[in-house]
Amino acid sequence: MHKVLAVIPVILVTTLVSAAARPPLVTEAQIPGATLRIEVQQPIADKKAAEIVEWLRSASSNISLAYGRFPNPSPRVVVIPTGGRSWGGDSPVPFGRVTRDGEEKIEFFVNPDRPIQEYYADWTATHEFSHLMLPYVRSRHKWISEGFASYYQNILMARAGHYTASEAWQKLYAGFERGRLSRPELSPNEAAAAGIRKARMKIYWSGAAIALLADIELRERSGGRESLDVALDRLQRCCLPSNRSWNGPTLFAKLDSLVDIPVFMPLYRKHADTAGFPDIRPALKRLGVAIENNSVRVLPHAELADLRIDITDGHAPL
Ligand SMILES: [Zn+2]
Repeated sequence: MHKVLAVIPVILVTTLVSAAARPPLVTEAQIPGATLRIEVQQPIADKKAAEIVEWLRSASSNISLAYGRFPNPSPRVVVIPTGGRSWGGDSPVPFGRVTRDGEEKIEFFVNPDRPIQEYYADWTATHEFSHLMLPYVRSRHKWISEGFASYYQNILMARAGHYTASEAWQKLYAGFERGRLSRPELSPNEAAAAGIRKARMKIYWSGAAIALLADIELRERSGGRESLDVALDRLQRCCLPSNRSWNGPTLFAKLDSLVDIPVFMPLYRKHADTAGFPDIRPALKRLGVAIENNSVRVLPHAELADLRIDITDGHAPL
């Protein structure tokens, strides 16, 4: 018994040392408008590392389904293995984050034990990459950055074929419900001030609701010439990647300056400091997104059915 106990730590230490000594896999991947600079930390088996690089290429290409290219021509992507089931449960990508410190870096904590097919069905990478369509937004207006990424993670997964249109609307609706039920006494700005740990769903989904309302209004008012995709395309051309932090109204005013009729600041004035949750039910009804017992059905005939199809099909009028 003693002997066994004495031997195990030696084996563990040896394993850790040899794992740490193995250098990360460093490679590049070409996608529309960008070259990803990828670093896969160890230990991850060579075959799985190659699969993960291919998955990163695919997931980052999802972003080009917004306006034809990736927002940053040379982002850094770092993949860090979680060490199996030690945390993150069964998720293939338990955690991702964007850091901006002189350059834009996207980190993904992955579970190498999960099959690669599960990575493709997971929205984490599409969410994190979507963050790069906006500059860094100050934490007191965090609902803008988290909301826009939450909106885009769903519609881009649909455009890429990983979700059906119905699944995308179901996930958006479920998110809006989580947001509506979360901290109803707070406005989006107050929720952002309270912080992610205390008001996560309110922050993420109130911002996603405002992104949807902006998208509908842009498409409807312009007869399809403009959309959220078009506004973000123009934002990228003028201002991204950006090294400074933006406050919410500055960003929304900039977006308004890039479209024919302002929609962002009017939405900000209506919702940012208003308690409760933006009422998206009339918009969903006009889109033909019917809800029965929390289950979504998309209707073929509705006032804005064509606009709804453009959102999930990505017929961006560029
Ligand atoms: Zn996020």
